[in-house]
Amino acid sequence: MESKPIIIRHIGQLLTMSGPGPNDAFACISHAALVVEKGLVVWAGADSGLPSQYQGIEIDGGGALVTPGLVDAHTHLIYAGHRAHEVRMRAQGRSYLEILQAGGGILSTVEKTRGASDQELLAATRKRLNHGLLSGTTTFEIKSGYDLTVDGELRLLRLINQLREEGPWRVIPTALAAHAVPPEFFGRPADYLRHLEREYLPKISPLAEVVDIFCEPGVFSLDDSRHYLQAAQARGLQVKLHVDELADGKGAWLAAAIGAQSADHCALTSGEAYGAMARAGVAAVILPGTARYLDHGHMANARAMLDHGGWVAIASDGNPGSSPTDSLGQLLPWAASWLKLTPEEVWTGVTRGGAQALRILQAGRLVAGAPADFILWDAEHYAYPTYYYGSNLVREVYVGGRRVAANRPEVI
Ligand SMILES: [Zn+2]
Repeated sequence: MESKPIIIRHIGQLLTMSGPGPNDAFACISHAALVVEKGLVVWAGADSGLPSQYQGIEIDGGGALVTPGLVDAHTHLIYAGHRAHEVRMRAQGRSYLEILQAGGGILSTVEKTRGASDQELLAATRKRLNHGLLSGTTTFEIKSGYDLTVDGELRLLRLINQLREEGPWRVIPTALAAHAVPPEFFGRPADYLRHLEREYLPKISPLAEVVDIFCEPGVFSLDDSRHYLQAAQARGLQVKLHVDELADGKGAWLAAAIGAQSADHCALTSGEAYGAMARAGVAAVILPGTARYLDHGHMANARAMLDHGGWVAIASDGNPGSSPTDSLGQLLPWAASWLKLTPEEVWTGVTRGGAQALRILQAGRLVAGAPADFILWDAEHYAYPTYYYGSNLVREVYVGGRRVAANRPEVI
């Protein structure tokens, strides 16, 4: 960690994201400077107003856009193998169920993950985190969920924590043993959840503070999900849910009723349910890449949540089946286009919205006291990264005031 302050001068636009609420969090200073000391932002403002007391290492921003590091509030980045061969099967018109019966789908990832060594899983996940970091993500939520045995799920949480300690990225672990029904409990989802309540929930703390479940008709029912999440809450754990992805299963209502941190997907959530979530302080974590990748025709109504004054987070859902990516930064133009959001709303969703969903309230903004996690972009205006797709516009990545990654696109 630098002992002297770092002063970034001549920033073209600095997104401080310092406003109070979901609809006014966005804030931008033109011709700005940013002062960082001991890993934290100590001052942000107009370059012309930089107080003379700040003496340190000066960095010329060169007129670039500087934003908070992206907060990806929903990923499944710890797994072994990949499912690239399913592209051909989908092109041939094979359904999800047919792919599953042919040995593909989530259970193929479970099999590979169970069979992988700690070192293999760490190496594969580390590679994904590096990619994500180079695309602008500095905070990754990572869920367990591709082992589906008690010991294996606890192993995944331990490995996620190991990656968290390694850094330079910031990682928030989530306990998602209730991701799918494992082969050992086929046709008996409620029995699996009772098993987890007895054998798994008591062992989660301190590996994770939050428990998640895939609450969807045909996987874990509303009643079973409620029972499981309330058992987690009784142990002092926080909860969140995958809801309403493939059907309106009323999972968003459950999230509001039990005070979840967030309800995620929400592709088919009704306007009324968004209202209930907003009133209960439950964030909507919206995953536009997944909805488009699965091509199921349902895009979450982010606008309804914003109209109700609720927090919207936009996340990658990075996973090997329905959203094979690790780079939230690559999704910004698509979030704008598919969700019909303004540049200001997209930036809010990938910074403050993500931080709100994860309850890390100092993250996702660049104000005095906030962690100095920020990105220098190859862009002059903040609208540009929500517009220009396919090229990585990230120039430099800072975490805790330290430059941890840089892209230098040059032809050699
Ligand atoms: Zn998910």
